[in-house]
Amino acid sequence: MIQVRTLDDIVMEAQRQSINLVRFIYADLSSIIRGKATRSLRLKDRLESGIGLVKGTLAMNMLDQLQTDTGFGASGEIRLIPDPDTWTVLPYAERQAAVICDLMELDRTPWELCPRNVLKKQIARARDLGFSFQASFEPEFTIGTTVDGTFQPLDRSLCFSTEGMNKASRFINNFIDALAKQGIEVEQYYPELGHGQHEVSISHMPALKACDRQIFYRETLKGIALEMGMEAFLAPKPFEKQPGNGCHLHISAWDAYGERNLLFAESGLSPFGMKFVAGIVEHLPGLVALTAPSVNSYRRLQPSSWASAYTCWGFENREAAVRIPSVYWGQEMATTNIEVKCVDSTANPYLALAGVIAAGLDGVERNLTAPEPITCDPASLSDDEREANRCHRLPSSLMDALMELEEDKLLSSMLGSRLADTYCAVKTSECGAFGGANPEFEMTHHRNRY
Ligand code: GLU
Ligand code: MG
Repeated sequence: MIQVRTLDDIVMEAQRQSINLVRFIYADLSSIIRGKATRSLRLKDRLESGIGLVKGTLAMNMLDQLQTDTGFGASGEIRLIPDPDTWTVLPYAERQAAVICDLMELDRTPWELCPRNVLKKQIARARDLGFSFQASFEPEFTIGTTVDGTFQPLDRSLCFSTEGMNKASRFINNFIDALAKQGIEVEQYYPELGHGQHEVSISHMPALKACDRQIFYRETLKGIALEMGMEAFLAPKPFEKQPGNGCHLHISAWDAYGERNLLFAESGLSPFGMKFVAGIVEHLPGLVALTAPSVNSYRRLQPSSWASAYTCWGFENREAAVRIPSVYWGQEMATTNIEVKCVDSTANPYLALAGVIAAGLDGVERNLTAPEPITCDPASLSDDEREANRCHRLPSSLMDALMELEEDKLLSSMLGSRLADTYCAVKTSECGAFGGANPEFEMTHHRNRY
């Protein structure tokens, strides 16, 4: 993403690059990335006054089924208003660019259903308390091609193997180059455990930008795959017998100036960090309705699969829903962070990160004490041992998670009643649509959409 200060800069950049269409995009409640595009001839006007969108669009589920019981339908409009800082020329769509939009009422105030505004409010709240956040989403994905109607993964190599690196090198190089053209720097790459499963992680950024990058990351992955005649899936569990695709969320809390990492302590995690973790762990049952928000998500969140399945935390523990990763030597302060593992790419990143910040800050404000860190696979503990450590099974279905979300007063009020109700209606309809159907129907739809 190029930092662009003014709308005139964007118009000039569009002319210089012979941009034909500019997409005004947003992520809806099911995190389907949608939008409308404008010819660049009218760009200045459109950047200023946005593009109209029917409110009912936000009441559609991932099968485009409108949930009319939300009160949204054919009438009522908002405007898609671009954030100039997100201007991005798309390397996988010739002569096209995109801007991420806020959803605004016609009176120019933020619409109560705008997910990006939910996060902005949490960021502003944190700023008032003297905190700021850096974050990064870390998606895993599956790549391959469909031959005679059957998906063939690009490789069947072993985890972290150089064989996998060789087989995927053309795709991964193109993907990394495309991210770099958008100013998104890659941190690490490796083949993961599953067939055709790979992971490319990107550097952390201030909270809002980290979410914008997750949108462009997903777009780029699908775009490059399409360009190469391949397929790429971010779905949490694209195939029943293969490991799931997580999208772990890394977050660090800083002072208002971004100079001091408040999570850092010589001992590993500061008292502030402990309370922040305690807040996240306490809210996990409802939080997963925002971080792992699809029917398919719950195929992934199973015990002993490194995806996390219990309300617990631990240092360097890949079975813990909240993991404190090891730090880089000599950069201990800069690299101390919290990883939330029960996150996947079906999450609307703005709602997921807003939920994690709200939960963590709740822990700080209420001075919560975290349970003891777990040092083993919680599934290997007895029921009594887990109970003694407040370590409970995460909701095992989206429906259960939604009920927990409704019970969670902090997260419900963070969303606001209209958004909370619409979100639950949309997501409940997905439980209905996929619940009675065969698992292949569910997995196919999630592979295609994410
Ligand atoms: N694939 C695992 C998941 O579903 C994560 C494996 C890892 O620790 O990278 O979250
Ligand atoms: Mg991984």
